[in-house]
Amino acid sequence: MKNDILILLSSFMLMLSQCSKNENKNQNLVQETSNFKTNLNIVKNLQITTLSTMLANKGIGEWGYSALVEVDDKKILFDTGRKPETVLKNAEELGIDLSQVETVFLSHSHGDHTGGLLTLRKKLKQKNPNAISKIHVGEGIFEQRVNFRNRMLEIKQELEKDGVMFIIHKKEFELLPGVWVTGPIDRIHPEKNYGGKWKITTKNNDSVIDNIPEDQSLVINTEKGYVIISGCGHAGIINTIEHVTSKIENKNVYAIIGGFHLVNATEKQLTWTANHLRKHNISKIIGAHCTGINSLYTLKQLLNLERKNAVVGSVGDHFNLKGGIFPGLIAK
Ligand SMILES: [Zn+2]
Ligand SMILES: [Zn+2]
Repeated sequence: MKNDILILLSSFMLMLSQCSKNENKNQNLVQETSNFKTNLNIVKNLQITTLSTMLANKGIGEWGYSALVEVDDKKILFDTGRKPETVLKNAEELGIDLSQVETVFLSHSHGDHTGGLLTLRKKLKQKNPNAISKIHVGEGIFEQRVNFRNRMLEIKQELEKDGVMFIIHKKEFELLPGVWVTGPIDRIHPEKNYGGKWKITTKNNDSVIDNIPEDQSLVINTEKGYVIISGCGHAGIINTIEHVTSKIENKNVYAIIGGFHLVNATEKQLTWTANHLRKHNISKIIGAHCTGINSLYTLKQLLNLERKNAVVGSVGDHFNLKGGIFPGLIAK
């Protein structure tokens, strides 16, 4: 009996080692495991600067999104804007050196978030060979789309030839102490922040409505609560928050920053969103990109937030833990 158990155990161990060997053959590093902790790391210094959105005091405005996230002594580029040169030029004009940024976080596959990636790598590696060399994405970002070409497939091929590594996240993962990638978000509520007319090919070769399954957010754990950065919010900001509070740790959300895809939201949807945001004690909002100007002001009113605490995002604005939001002149 004992021997049987031993044989069973050793064949199980062999199976496990085979699995990991097979995974290593894959070019991409796939992060499957959650490293859930109860004693979470806290980020002390945080600065988030908008590098691409529609409004611009300095630099170029465009339909797109990108922000530089500075955490303690590390820098992460969140999305890369739409036009190839926007983020590069806006950073230059703002006096920000992006050549030391090695880590990129992509919220999802859409061109208004990934359009600057190739140019940024090409230009910045001239100064630092490791610039823009590690790219964190959510599972699903490379799935074939039925009605249009998923440019991420070509971008991946080209960048991998250049030594760039893609890290695909299936679950929440602590990227740096106190900085989390959500991975794909559970769609608990029907926020449906996607058009619904495009289709995606699944692993079984079926085509289903493209709900942008890879959509993920970046979460920074601070002593004031979570700061969540969203790219286009296709998963829904409430789904995103609930994903974070259930998968990482249940605590308040101090600030939400980025695109929340509420530009077409009805009053009813905005009221529903505000009611859920209130439960999480949101204190600060920078609504950039596809949040919609009107929707941002409706949320501000519904949440009874002061003018300085609910701001339309603009190129060059920034947020930090000490001073809160430093809006662009146009958005004051
Ligand atoms: Zn999008
Ligand atoms: Zn977008």
